[in-house]
Amino acid sequence: MAYHITLIPGDGIGPEVTEATRRVLEATGVAFQWELAYVGATAQDKFGTLLPDSVLASIRQNRVALKGPVTTPVGSGFRSVNVALRKKLGLYACLRPAKVYPGAPSLYKNVDLVVVRENMEDLYSGIEFEKGTPEATRLIEFISETKGETLSKDSGFSLKVISEMCSRRIVKFAFDYARTNHRKKVTAVHKANIMKFSDGLFLSVAREVAMEYPDIGFEDRIVDNMNMQLVQKPHLYDILVAPNLYGDLLSDLCAGLIGGLGLAPGANLSDDIAIFEPTHGSAPRYAGLNKVNPMAMMLSGVMMLRHLGEEKSADRLETAIAEVIAEGKNVTYDLNPKMPNETVGTSQVADAVIAKLSS
Ligand code: NAD
Repeated sequence: MAYHITLIPGDGIGPEVTEATRRVLEATGVAFQWELAYVGATAQDKFGTLLPDSVLASIRQNRVALKGPVTTPVGSGFRSVNVALRKKLGLYACLRPAKVYPGAPSLYKNVDLVVVRENMEDLYSGIEFEKGTPEATRLIEFISETKGETLSKDSGFSLKVISEMCSRRIVKFAFDYARTNHRKKVTAVHKANIMKFSDGLFLSVAREVAMEYPDIGFEDRIVDNMNMQLVQKPHLYDILVAPNLYGDLLSDLCAGLIGGLGLAPGANLSDDIAIFEPTHGSAPRYAGLNKVNPMAMMLSGVMMLRHLGEEKSADRLETAIAEVIAEGKNVTYDLNPKMPNETVGTSQVADAVIAKLSS
């Protein structure tokens, strides 16, 4: 019987990497019935809304979606549809593995990290007060009255919200993931030395949760130090759990450790719904050029196959992708930066992976 999956091509480079991924997933022999769905600017053009209810209904019904990146305007314009999707569906955990495949242009040989990012709160709360508005002025007055701090009248605000409930849930998720996947250690990443009531809360909850998992190692790192440690000795780390913003930043840093965003997959999960999508964004300047690497999305597809219980097909597809990387003949520009003229396009990578699957 075919798996019903909501397929969101996204925009920018999204449709190209999604199509390449759909092709390799079908080549595994697993049967899929794709339910096409549009969000973001594409949905705005087609249906006059950024996030149609029908898309949420489709994902709720199928419980699994595969999603390409979606553009969010920078600085002004509409708010992120990616964040809205995660929030509306309660996808509280973002899982982003970062593993070096032999042949990838990485400075390291043995990186095998997993970033577990809290997806619901922190500076992504979306609670903001624009400079000069009556609300911002009231907030400045309130802070002056309660804290004795005089803030500049032209200040804008974005609220960092960290709750005990969300912190406990994400740290438990990280430890459970460690147990199920035979991992040894969880590192909580924070800035609790400075933000005592938000990151401090996250850290104290993480320490409490760690006591419930005596079989898994636990330590914490201040986020700035964590960045340096990851660049100098990434092999010392295993699972990193962090509030939303640090989790996002660490994900891209970890992508840089393994050869770039073109190799960094991801999943957004609740207890019963999962959306699989690469870590990278819509890279608009490469849109429609058949140029970018579809492997981050293909590896997200591998994660999806594992989630569906299709372990053998997941292993086969991951091996096929790894072989294409190792051979280095049919890879995109990012995997062969020294010889960009010797590289291929997005759809040719899919051809090469499919050839490996059927060899
Ligand atoms: P980006 O990830 O789109 O691109 C940054 C750079 O990384 C690109 O210029 C390119 O050099 C490289 N890159 C990205 N994907 C690649 C691939 N598959 N193969 C090879 N190289 C690749 O980040 P950005 O430019 O900061 O953001 C562009 C847009 O994407 C923004 O609107 C942002 O909001 C959005 N975005 C969406 C998501 C999502 O849909 N989940 C995630 C991140 C960013």
